[in-house]
Amino acid sequence: MDLKQYQDVWVFIDCFQGHPKDVGYELLGQGRLLAEALKQKCCAVIIGENVDEAIKGATEYGADIIYVVRGEEYANYSADAYGHAFLELCEKYHPNTILIGATANGRDLGSKLAIRLKTGLTADCTALSVEEDTGNVVWERPAFGGNLYARILCSETRPQMGTVRPGAFKKPQKCQNKLSVMIREDIRTKQEDILTKVIDFIKAKDESGIKLEEAEYIVAGGRGLKGAENFTMLKELADLLGGSVGASRAAVDAGWIPQSKQVGQTGKTVTPKVYIACGISGAVQHLAGMTESDTIIAINKDASAPIFEVADYGIVGDVFEMVPAMIKEMRIAKN
Ligand code: FAD
Repeated sequence: MDLKQYQDVWVFIDCFQGHPKDVGYELLGQGRLLAEALKQKCCAVIIGENVDEAIKGATEYGADIIYVVRGEEYANYSADAYGHAFLELCEKYHPNTILIGATANGRDLGSKLAIRLKTGLTADCTALSVEEDTGNVVWERPAFGGNLYARILCSETRPQMGTVRPGAFKKPQKCQNKLSVMIREDIRTKQEDILTKVIDFIKAKDESGIKLEEAEYIVAGGRGLKGAENFTMLKELADLLGGSVGASRAAVDAGWIPQSKQVGQTGKTVTPKVYIACGISGAVQHLAGMTESDTIIAINKDASAPIFEVADYGIVGDVFEMVPAMIKEMRIAKN
């Protein structure tokens, strides 16, 4: 394989019913850094029926080229239709690198593409860089339960591919007056070739309020909360702050809060302005999902809990005294 034939960094802009998810824009920021290091272009790939919002966003977040595939068969994600369209694009334009958000759809699409393109895919990367002498992307990700970081190379094949969780990187600054080149490709997928069909969308019960990945303030609870009923006070504090409630895996495993609220290696990666960890010890797997928060406040009655090593402000105390006191202060401040 002549690796030099493969040019440009592609970012998949994952959309739901025409609305782009933030992760696509977060990856355009990383794609730009990789493209600059490789001296190549940073490109967005948009597949859908209503694509206008995504095209506008990809331009604002700095894509040099935007590849657009449009058709009613792409209204909802399916591996068959999206996989077919994306593969046709790859076969025509030979991208060097492909970045995909590790959403449910992104994980599905990434694995399908990697198999069909006979190339490597590194999942859930937390840092990306380029090896100067080879042009290989260095895909960094936690391994062995978060106890070490693996640096993975795809040195023999192209494109080199990776998925990144939503929230792992911040969105870049919007570009002023960016002019992107748009390439529309008329790739159609026959209905009979789409084996899975979306019949309906049912909103999950816990999906109300601000999404965890998008919240600027997160109040997270762990085993120290001692029961599901005590998450009510965390919700109250989160509401006063205009934020969302998160949790450790111990709290999720105990059935106190849904899995969608789990922060960490096997949960969500979050980067809020403020993360308040209540009764959470700070296991490496939990830290993997929240250490990029701007400010971390930890409340734990054990002064030697590892969470204090990453906390900007540590409160050695009882959550059942500290959280109600914070709620009281917040209420006074708001009135
Ligand atoms: P504990 O470790 O039991 O800590 C509870 C803390 O509460 C203690 O520090 C205690 O001092 C404090 N406390 C108790 N009572 C009070 C009180 N009244 N006031 C104040 N503090 C109090 N974990 C995650 O969170 N997210 C993940 O994504 C994740 N993925 C994992 C993946 C793998 C492969 C593995 C092996 C584990 C994973 N874990 C994950 C589990 C992780 O190792 C820890 O077991 C978990 O994070 C512990 O949760 P915790 O801090 O709530 O509980």
